[in-house]
Amino acid sequence: MLQQTQVATVIDYYNRWMQKWPTLQALAKASLEEVNELWAGLGYYSRGKRLQEAAQKVVSELAGQMPATAEELQRLLPGVGKYTAGAIASISYGQVTGVVDGNVIRVLCRVRCIGADSSSPAVTDRLWDLANSLVDPARPGDFNQAMMELGATVCTPRAPLCMECPVKQHCRARCRVEKELEFASKRLLGKAAFSCSQAPDIEECAATGSCSLCLPASEPWDSSLGVANFPRRAAKKQPRAERTATCVLERRGPRGEPEYLIVQRPSSGLLAGLWEFPSLALELGLKEKQQREVLLAHVQAWAGEAVARGRLRHVGEVSHVFSHIHQTYVVYSLLLGGDHKTASGRRDKMLERPAFRWVTQAEFQKAAVSTAMKKVWKAFERQICEGRGSGQGCKRKRAANPSRAGQWKVEADGSLPPRQFSLDAFLKAPAGE
Ligand code: SF4
Repeated sequence: MLQQTQVATVIDYYNRWMQKWPTLQALAKASLEEVNELWAGLGYYSRGKRLQEAAQKVVSELAGQMPATAEELQRLLPGVGKYTAGAIASISYGQVTGVVDGNVIRVLCRVRCIGADSSSPAVTDRLWDLANSLVDPARPGDFNQAMMELGATVCTPRAPLCMECPVKQHCRARCRVEKELEFASKRLLGKAAFSCSQAPDIEECAATGSCSLCLPASEPWDSSLGVANFPRRAAKKQPRAERTATCVLERRGPRGEPEYLIVQRPSSGLLAGLWEFPSLALELGLKEKQQREVLLAHVQAWAGEAVARGRLRHVGEVSHVFSHIHQTYVVYSLLLGGDHKTASGRRDKMLERPAFRWVTQAEFQKAAVSTAMKKVWKAFERQICEGRGSGQGCKRKRAANPSRAGQWKVEADGSLPPRQFSLDAFLKAPAGE
């Protein structure tokens, strides 16, 4: 849970997870749907899926015994990479093996003045060698946690607390900063000065200019950065832009309460197995009229009635950044009038239709839906509230009395009343009051 995610965000998820599945055996019995529901909002959903798959493998193929070495953990369990394997093996089983995460990378690169791209194979290998050679054989788990904690709390990315650092006397980055300052002050005073360039900082560095660990010649030492010259990373690839049309399809359920259609995403790929409002990837450059047409054709199968293009209401646009995609959801809503009894359906490969279900607002909030879909819901809800001009009270009113005249009612001829009230309609007392 903590990979790519902050502790403060994880705590609630972790507590609920451990309460629900306190043992491997309990987790192995869970369905992917349950796992996704609990994980909803935490992001990087494949982590939950892999945890559940790993538990199933341990129970069904490894007689309930967790592998106890880093090598076996990585080889036998899905989703366990080098870092996770090293962390579990050292912390849980006392194996003398190092770990390298983002915090450890920062500490080691600074302590040893490693200035080449920290994600390059040469640097990665060197960092693992260093971590494995430094780890304390008597307390490997504590040592590894201390290294990670040092990076998280003292040797921080932008404002490291070098004066308070317990390893400052071993740190070459700090030494280099001091030498640079000394050099600058002696130069000011006109005295002969020691130059860092006369004394290589990395003892392994034999060939100046061609070293795979030193600061690159194209981006030399920057005195304004100090120890933060280390580590360096290659420029991050920008996420690609995508647009998706999404429709909040709404109907009245058996007791008159509003229900919304959600469909299940494919079992692999981005947000695998999660539920969402019917959505369709849009080609870039599509005009609004064309967007409506393709979206309407997409939702027609669930509508169960002929729907004119004009009945799609434009809600707005919602942005969400995934790790590699900048997604813009173009959100529409569609209120259905007919009598629809079907509550759910399985995936139909012949019709190329995903599994679907109609849910109430409360069920939607508990379902395995992504943060992006919750943003879509908020945009839809905001539009409804603004349309009624009732601000905060909108949600309560709607849930308490969904059949309130003029709000959900479909006219006798099957047409729908406008969602956006005119001032007249708003001031007019509903029938019967
Ligand atoms: Fe990091 Fe400063 Fe400590 Fe070096 S002395 S490890 S740069 S906090």
